[in-house]
Amino acid sequence: MKFAELAVPVPVYQTYTYEIPPDLESSIRPGYRVIVPLGKRKITGYVVSLTNKCDRTDLKPIYDLLDDSPALLPDLLALARWISEYYICPLGEVIKAMLPGGINLESNIQIKLLKDSQEVHQYVRGKKVPTQEKILNLLLESGHITIQQLRKKIQRSNLIFSVTKLVESGFLSREVILGKAPTGPKYENWIKLSSAYVEISKYNEIINELSQRAPAQASCVKIIYENKEISQRELLKQGGFSNNVITSLLEKGYIEKFQTEVFRSYYSISPSQTQEKIILNEYQKRAIVFLEEAINNGDFKTFLVHGVTGSGKTQVYIEAIKRVLMKGKTAIVLVPEIALTPQTVSRFTANFPNQVAVLHSRMSPGERFDSWRKLKDGDFKIAIGPRSAIFAPLTNIGLIVVDEEHESSYKQMDIKPLYHARDVAVYRGKLNQAVVILGSATPSLESYYNAKIQKYHLIELPQRIDDVPMPEVTIVDMLTQRKRYPRQNVSIFSKVLQDKIVEKLNLNQQIILLQNRRGFSTYIKCKDCGLIEQCENCNITLTYHLTNHTLRCHYCNYTKKAPKVCPNCGGVDILFQGTGTQKVEQEINQLFPEARVVRMDLDTTSKKFAHDRILKDFGAGKYDILLGTQMVAKGLDFQNVTLVGVISADTSLLFPDFRASERTFQLLTQVAGRAGRKFLTGEVYIQTYSPDNMSLKFAKQHNFKQFFLNELPIRNELNYSPFGRLVYILIKGETEEKVKSSAEIFSKCLILPKNLGEILGPIPAPLSKIKKNYRWQLIIKSNKKIDPSGNILRKYLINAIATYKSQKIKRNVKILIDIDPISLL
Ligand code: ADP
Ligand code: ZN
Repeated sequence: MKFAELAVPVPVYQTYTYEIPPDLESSIRPGYRVIVPLGKRKITGYVVSLTNKCDRTDLKPIYDLLDDSPALLPDLLALARWISEYYICPLGEVIKAMLPGGINLESNIQIKLLKDSQEVHQYVRGKKVPTQEKILNLLLESGHITIQQLRKKIQRSNLIFSVTKLVESGFLSREVILGKAPTGPKYENWIKLSSAYVEISKYNEIINELSQRAPAQASCVKIIYENKEISQRELLKQGGFSNNVITSLLEKGYIEKFQTEVFRSYYSISPSQTQEKIILNEYQKRAIVFLEEAINNGDFKTFLVHGVTGSGKTQVYIEAIKRVLMKGKTAIVLVPEIALTPQTVSRFTANFPNQVAVLHSRMSPGERFDSWRKLKDGDFKIAIGPRSAIFAPLTNIGLIVVDEEHESSYKQMDIKPLYHARDVAVYRGKLNQAVVILGSATPSLESYYNAKIQKYHLIELPQRIDDVPMPEVTIVDMLTQRKRYPRQNVSIFSKVLQDKIVEKLNLNQQIILLQNRRGFSTYIKCKDCGLIEQCENCNITLTYHLTNHTLRCHYCNYTKKAPKVCPNCGGVDILFQGTGTQKVEQEINQLFPEARVVRMDLDTTSKKFAHDRILKDFGAGKYDILLGTQMVAKGLDFQNVTLVGVISADTSLLFPDFRASERTFQLLTQVAGRAGRKFLTGEVYIQTYSPDNMSLKFAKQHNFKQFFLNELPIRNELNYSPFGRLVYILIKGETEEKVKSSAEIFSKCLILPKNLGEILGPIPAPLSKIKKNYRWQLIIKSNKKIDPSGNILRKYLINAIATYKSQKIKRNVKILIDIDPISLL
């Protein structure tokens, strides 16, 4: 083939054709990465197809080939195309997001000094050009430097301007060079005996010779002999001698050095626990019958496993994977957040020793790269990880599991493509003729609806394992509590919850408490003038944190010292309003001084393995109370927990979002599900000022179906998903006026036929300013009956983007299109 069609990671909705140089013709294939010139730069591109025909004569040749096997497997390439089309994101950007970060070569601009020091001094003398002078001084030391490195050393806004001036004056040259990929395989030095000395008699000869004159060398040879091969690092550690010992032996030719690749692993490999024998209950068996049939037939089928908390869903996934492996196929398991689910993950690693690659979001680029390659080479058969694990480079996939499929963390929200891993999972299943399992105790309305209309196959596990009863849920009306106990402090802990906590502490049983807000007070307010401190960068009130007495923004991390006097009126009466986890912790310490409490929220879990440690310690009984944000609601399985308390159910209900009641129902049902999971009966207390809310009522009854039947007509009436297709368009930028007018211009470019759907806006977004960016929004609710696949709507959107771009008026304003958004904030 003579020409290659490439996707490049730039925000342009097209592919590029390049000429294939003759020497690369035989090796280049779709899925390979290549280096190509693009404008003045050289960048990594991805080959998506090859062709022999092209009429154009102005094509540039491919510069180089980066891989010796395709970086992207054929099914992932097809998946990338689908994501690119469905989520309206350039193909190159999609592919880049699928591959582990840091493996692409990026070109750099390098500047070089062309004059000597005398000329430099002459040039700067008497001129007021401090930035130029700094640059020149740096270059006098090093000769050349890349712009990237330069930026790190000199942080000034006129950097590029100064460089340009120096280039114009003939002091510098500027050229494009190709950097090194930041990540690649890691090699380590290993040592073995030279082949002439491996035989026992020869080995004894060396030992005899060395033990008198050079005992350290003798012991070194001994260690090597015993290990056959050993890494240099390990050898030095075991022997306790210096590197010279090894150098001498190398010089004598007794030993040899060689390199092997090391596998960088986030987890140190721990010996796998032995599994207790599990006999599936009737519901689990039935589930497996359906799954097994589909697996054996090699059918693409999506199952929704709706099982109450503790009904043994995870065990069903494990059994299904066993059957997939027996067919010689592979599996992907998605979990919402890997750090929060160490128990689930270790059940998989224990069941499938040495076959699981755990992809952790906190992995270093090197660790990620190594797992990725091992999956690609077939060394691992199972990939477990958060949403991006759906791109695991496995071939021959037989099963994809999406655990807790309702979780919002499956939706990518910050960087493009804004994909939903659950929906991508279903499509990847289709491409691979694989079985897809979506599992949850509280399915998303979308998935349950899909099961109802028989797009998915519903499997139900309506009972807990061993017929353990569901916990008894009590809703506590806080208003009544405050009236009934006017003299007592019942604003954070109602009297009933206080009594229950004491009861459980006395029984040595454990307690989980949920307060879905971190920090101490959710805002502070001046009593005199009413000032509430806001973030400088966001339209958000600042949260008061006890640690160092700071005010923090939970959106941009802006932090400042909490004021002692009001910055507005000088008043000294400052009210600390709203309750965060820190305040709850303080209250626990006052009310129950004997209780051992551990807090789990974003602030206590920033360090590596912090989650694991907290959960391990709680599991080992080192604490009585686990207090935290929604982190404590997810998938935890502790037998000794008999009480779950929700400090305030109202935090998520107050969110002005169409999913607020669904979220609240999910969170309450999930956290309630942590109680009484085995021998001991569980109790749940939910405190609220809206005791009549339907989400609370159905959570109390553990009744997902009623919640679904109640919520669905509301969605239907307002044409929200699953009925209407939602598209959220965010227009953001640092100048409010520009954002507003861009939003208006874009909305004029987007004209939909009446029957296709309605457009709401443009209006300022509810979160009207975040990280210095003003935000405006447009919401589309399109008619799925007319346009079931969304293809017609996408055409209108793409046209709107093109028309908008062709006007070339507003700069520094970004437009983000979010297909199937999970929130409209
Ligand atoms: P879910 O994922 O639905 O919350 P799990 O799979 O975590 O439920 O099961 C809950 C608990 O019951 C776990 O401790 C699990 O090991 C155990 N379990 C699951 N299936 C069985 C079974 N058939 N027999 C005995 N114990 C089981
Ligand atoms: Zn902020």
